[in-house]
Amino acid sequence: MVSIAHATTGAFIAAVLPYPWVYIPLSLASHFALDFVRHYDIGVAAKIYHYSKTEMIAWEAVDLLVSVLMIALIWQQTFTNYNPHLWIGAFFGILPDILETSDYFFHQPLKILQPIYHLHDVFHHSTRQFWWGVIPQIILVSTIALAANWS
Ligand SMILES: [Zn+2]
Repeated sequence: MVSIAHATTGAFIAAVLPYPWVYIPLSLASHFALDFVRHYDIGVAAKIYHYSKTEMIAWEAVDLLVSVLMIALIWQQTFTNYNPHLWIGAFFGILPDILETSDYFFHQPLKILQPIYHLHDVFHHSTRQFWWGVIPQIILVSTIALAANWS
C-alpha cells in the first residue's frame, strides 16, 4: 500500500495503545497485514509507467508528505501540541518499505535484511487495476480518520 495508508494505520495503533512496546510491533505487523490486501501503489505505477529513479523519488516524497499532512490533520498535530507516539507508530508502519528502498538505492539487497525482504514479498499482493487497488486504501484511511475523531 502507499505510505499514507501504512503511516496512518501505524499512528492509529499508537494513538489507541500509546505504549511503545505494544504499538511498535503492532505497527510493524500492520504493514504486512495491509500489504496482503491487493493494492495499487507507487511500485506498481513505476512498473506500468516505467518511472525513472527521479520520478520514483518524487512520487515517494509526495506520498510521505501527504502522510505527514494526514496525520497532522487527523490528530490535529501542531508544533506546540504534538504526540510523539503517533509519529513513531507511523514510522514503524512504513519501515518495511523504507528498508526495501535500501535494496533500490544500493543495487543489491543488504544480506542482513533478506528475511524482512522475503517476509515483505510473501505478504505483498498488488494489482495493476488502479481503482480496485486504491479504493481499499481510501476506505482504510477514511475509517481511521473517523475512528480517531469519534466522540
Ligand atoms: Zn510494503
